[in-house]
Amino acid sequence: MEATHDVLVVGAGCAGMRAAIEAYDAGANVAVISKLHPTRSHSGAAEGGINAALGNAAEDSPEIHAFDTVKGSDYLGDQDAIEIFTREAPSDIYQLENWGAFFSRMLDGKLAQRPFGAAGSPRTVFAADITGHVLIQVLYEQLVKRDITVYEEYFAWKLVENDGRCQGVICWDLLNGGIKVVGGKTTILATGGQGRIYRTTTNAYACTGDGAAMALRMGLPLKDMEFMQFHPTTLYPTGILLTEGCRGEGAYLINSEGERFMKTYAPNAMELASRDVVSRAEMTEIDAGRGINGSVMLDMRHLGAQRIIERLPGSRELSMTFAGLDPIYDPIPVRPGAHYHMGGVETDNDGATELTGLYAAGEVACVSVHGANRLGGNSLMETITFGRRSGRAAAEWALSNTTIDVPASAEADAERELRGLLDVSEGERPWQIRNDLGSSKQIEVIDELRERYERGVIVDDKGEVFNSDLVQAIELGNMIDLSACMLQAGIARKESRGAHARPYDYPTRDDENFMKHSITRWVGDGPELSYKDVRYTKYDPMERTY
Ligand SMILES: Cc1cc2nc3c(=O)[nH]c(=O)nc-3n(C[C@H](O)[C@H](O)[C@H](O)COP(=O)(O)OP(=O)(O)OC[C@H]3O[C@@H](n4cnc5c(N)ncnc54)[C@H](O)[C@@H]3O)c2cc1C
Repeated sequence: MEATHDVLVVGAGCAGMRAAIEAYDAGANVAVISKLHPTRSHSGAAEGGINAALGNAAEDSPEIHAFDTVKGSDYLGDQDAIEIFTREAPSDIYQLENWGAFFSRMLDGKLAQRPFGAAGSPRTVFAADITGHVLIQVLYEQLVKRDITVYEEYFAWKLVENDGRCQGVICWDLLNGGIKVVGGKTTILATGGQGRIYRTTTNAYACTGDGAAMALRMGLPLKDMEFMQFHPTTLYPTGILLTEGCRGEGAYLINSEGERFMKTYAPNAMELASRDVVSRAEMTEIDAGRGINGSVMLDMRHLGAQRIIERLPGSRELSMTFAGLDPIYDPIPVRPGAHYHMGGVETDNDGATELTGLYAAGEVACVSVHGANRLGGNSLMETITFGRRSGRAAAEWALSNTTIDVPASAEADAERELRGLLDVSEGERPWQIRNDLGSSKQIEVIDELRERYERGVIVDDKGEVFNSDLVQAIELGNMIDLSACMLQAGIARKESRGAHARPYDYPTRDDENFMKHSITRWVGDGPELSYKDVRYTKYDPMERTY
């Protein structure tokens, strides 16, 4: 075994680093495993901001934030988790600020807060439109300050279960090659999302759902897998995100007739309706022939050059670089793209999973704060608040339990399996199957892709050092299994709720039959579905209005 630690955190995005810092401060010996250098984690791409009811720009409270989140979730969020989240968010923001996060400010010196979709008050704290970049740098500084061990460019492949609890992680050392086993009294999965399953996505190449797939193979339940959020403003044709902050600052959405079409779909909230509503409205316009090249236009011209340069410099740069258009002078073509996965590894409010010693936080987890639809700005906040909570809980458990026992056979089995992957000489190259995965819609197609994968994928690179070919083959296997879970749960949910839209066969919400979480487990050689009640506190589903 390479080493042992009290708490092992797999993932070095906002959730992983916040968890590691908290576990360290609770007295644990902590290490972080990441397939990327921490500051290259996808959290760094987050743009628009992070939600907490500070009440700086208008009246606000954790209760209003909770109500907005419950309503935005289309009543599928667990309300006890949401209440914890909105109550603890403000002090988490001040903690980040004290660590050096330079958030944008108002003239009176207070932290500025911008309006975001479906928020009852302007509550999104931001650092221009590079909020994720700022957070990831600040958290990394805190990691370095504490001298927390980082197993950088280690690809986590399997969890080790022994004696009924998680006791470590089996990794492939990307830089030097070879299997490395790291033991942990507790392990926190913070491996982020799985947007790369889709062809058009805002997610980076690393977002391949590895943590969720590892948990799935341990027999753990994944929750609400059918809910993938499509962001309404991804740049045509690349799918790069233009933040909701553009609309928060006042940008319009217009169709080919120059009309602000959101007045038909959400006359009050207009462009700041929740993401599911705006994305569906865009597709309706495009399908009705009022799009331009399969897009609608995001118009910021009326905001003026100064506001665009000051508040949205990143969005301007992205538009100029990737669409050749300057938003000061031109409307920008946008369309919905796969963005955020609401589902994930089921956890309690402290990040604990069903397996003793294993926790999860951030986009890989499903607490569930977001239910059927996440509000913009709530995800970064979730990574921080539930990253902190899981770090504390994992450290406390680890410090009261002392042994780590990873059987030698676990390493030997992994070694054999890996050599088997490298030895495949007949079959297909992984990218061929990956391409088909990005465009498939049907469960039969996924089953066929799984068969093709299992028949053999050829890893051309047989080398030990930085074998990205091997890593991509493993990631593809993860994405195929997760897709099967997503499709099965999606087909079974015969209603439209939040991000899950079935406009042609089940266009309305069906509370009687589907006001419940889906739970997916891997049984035998496929996913098996069951359901679980949503936890309510005081927000009544019958009050749903937009
Ligand atoms: C373009 C974009 C903009 C966004 N903007 C906002 C915003 O303004 N506000 C907001 O609230 N939300 C936003 N989101 C969503 C939010 O940024 C993400 O949900 C959140 O940052 C995810 O953080 P995370 O820590 O869970 O995962 P990530 O930041 O994705 O980190 C995952 C970590 O896990 C590691 N990892 C993964 N697999 C393995 C493996 N097999 N072995 C080892 N390590 C592994 C990676 O190296 C990485 O360190 C945005 C998302 C995108 C895509």
